[in-house]
Amino acid sequence: MNYFIPYGRQDIGQEDIDAVVEVLHSDWLTTGPKVPEFERAVAEFVGLREAVAVSSGTAALHAAMYALRIEPGDEVIVPAMTFVATANAVAFQRGIPVFADVNPETLSIDPTEVEAKITSRTKAIAAVDYAGHPCDYDALRSLAAERDLALVADACHALGGSYKGRPVGSLADLNTFSFHPVKQITTGEGGAIATNDPELAQRMRMFRNHGIATDHRQRAEMGTWYYDMVDLGYNYRITDFQSALGLSQLCKLPEWIARRQEIARIYDRAIANIPAVKPLSVSPDVSHAYHLYVIQLELEQLKADRETIFSALREEGIGVNVHYIPVHLHSFYRQQFGTEAGLCPVAEAAYEKIITLPIFPTMSDRDVEYVNNALIRVLNYYAK
Ligand SMILES: *Cc1c(COP(=O)(O)O)cnc(C)c1O
Repeated sequence: MNYFIPYGRQDIGQEDIDAVVEVLHSDWLTTGPKVPEFERAVAEFVGLREAVAVSSGTAALHAAMYALRIEPGDEVIVPAMTFVATANAVAFQRGIPVFADVNPETLSIDPTEVEAKITSRTKAIAAVDYAGHPCDYDALRSLAAERDLALVADACHALGGSYKGRPVGSLADLNTFSFHPVKQITTGEGGAIATNDPELAQRMRMFRNHGIATDHRQRAEMGTWYYDMVDLGYNYRITDFQSALGLSQLCKLPEWIARRQEIARIYDRAIANIPAVKPLSVSPDVSHAYHLYVIQLELEQLKADRETIFSALREEGIGVNVHYIPVHLHSFYRQQFGTEAGLCPVAEAAYEKIITLPIFPTMSDRDVEYVNNALIRVLNYYAK
């Protein structure tokens, strides 16, 4: 197999490399000036007052749960169809992730299901913009306001997208991003939280630095060695060279989103002619950031299950993937939180029939056509 198209891939240009090298030659590798510069750029990009950059998207979610003072026994409603980190961040704080089912058309959290899961112990809702399609934020925001809950947007799939003309990252109280290489922009590992609340931002800056009130550079500037650790935190800092990479990548984000959307249109057209494949639906209110392009198989029209189709596509050199195993079905959640099959039937049924096709900005039209042709070949072969 010499032709292999991964499901996602970073794009690193010479300008990215130059930006990183420049910082490597400077005085500050970490806690230097590039970190706040990157934070300001992220905040400006999404149109909020503050952004806090951290070492991963997972750290961003953890910092968000900490900032909201999620404590043992507090419940946070999360979608069943997401990466484990969304729920794990609640568990890190000894809170209880309560799984809500998803909308069968978009696979993102269903506000009606959220409402049904609210109890007197619910503190927050963590919504995930599944595949890059922003959630129904009008419904989620009014629900959160009505029931006095915090709204977190795990926007790790959706940087660069928008909802009713408003940028992703500005739609919830706390909005988290990941800069892992398969995401819209990368810093290697990295993440950020955007917020309009300066007090929450301050709490998260302290949390990423061991719970210490001042950072190394602030102390250097003040000419003091003294510091106070006021709460238990972590080392979730991002480095200056990662921040330089993030700054350089952010400049290219709009054109990358346009390319992701262009690839999605090519897939849409091909899939419209394959009866056994159903695309997820896209609301006319959104600009989809297409972290993932997910198809659903119409299994009743096929002689084979998802696993067989998946393997056949991998044989063709296509890096298909499955996003996600519903989180409540993982052993940890079954054992620690007593979750089981049947809890979120829509997510569980979707899981049996979803396949993620490759999508990333440097994917050529020829690559997209190759995927489409393989998909048609495989599904014709297994058609009933
Ligand atoms: C990628 C991702 C994360 C975690 O981000 P990392 O940077 O890998 O820690 C969290 N939530 C979702 C929905 C993600 O896709």
